[in-house]
Amino acid sequence: MKFAVLSPIVDFVFPPRCPLCGAAVHTQSGLCASCWNELAIPGEPCCALCSRPFQGDLAPGTTCAPCLAEPPRHAGIADATLYNDASRRLVLAFKHGSRLGLGPMMARLMAASLARYEQDAWVFVPVPLHRWRIWRRGYNQAAVLAREIVRTAGGSLAVDALVRRKSTASLGGLGRRARLRELSGAIGISPKGAAAVRGRTVVLVDDVLTSGATSDACVGVLLRAGASKVVVACFARVIDEA
Ligand SMILES: [Zn+2]
Ligand SMILES: [Zn+2]
Repeated sequence: MKFAVLSPIVDFVFPPRCPLCGAAVHTQSGLCASCWNELAIPGEPCCALCSRPFQGDLAPGTTCAPCLAEPPRHAGIADATLYNDASRRLVLAFKHGSRLGLGPMMARLMAASLARYEQDAWVFVPVPLHRWRIWRRGYNQAAVLAREIVRTAGGSLAVDALVRRKSTASLGGLGRRARLRELSGAIGISPKGAAAVRGRTVVLVDDVLTSGATSDACVGVLLRAGASKVVVACFARVIDEA
């Protein structure tokens, strides 16, 4: 859908406001300068495998303790921001407040964080949402982001490649083993999805990356389906204690 032609009228009726603080801004999809500065954009130094930020100076190629203990199955994490109050409020507005207009801005940041990976013909696959949740919310926020990233960065979209076979309880508060048990068998791949990812570099897309249990289950399914590697892209990444 193209609304660009309507935007001067929309701007006149609804003057653009920063979605976080309400200050006047130039476009409907942007943040004001001070909220922009509150976003934590991850940088160097960081873990060579999962880009977890490090304190202090460490040699390039160093890996973090969790990656050392158990090498990840993904081929890297592209995190647009580190989870903080500003990114949390953005995600909530996008996810529950139906501020879908934030999608392009969030997707641009995600596309920028993907730039550190060698670009081959990426296939973008959103983390699936159970159909009951899609029905309640009206959309899968990860699929909206994946579609916007493809629009910005190119590549192909396999929006229904992964499917939720059962509705999982919230994983928050569960230990690692309990999370794995809750997720086992919850995520599958469609025949069309398997054909789309076979032999390809897949970018798994989600809005927030927390424990990594859900994304790890998705990465496992994609690799078993024949994806050559899977990079995990998220808008906001929760850094847990390492
Ligand atoms: Zn603001
Ligand atoms: Zn790491």
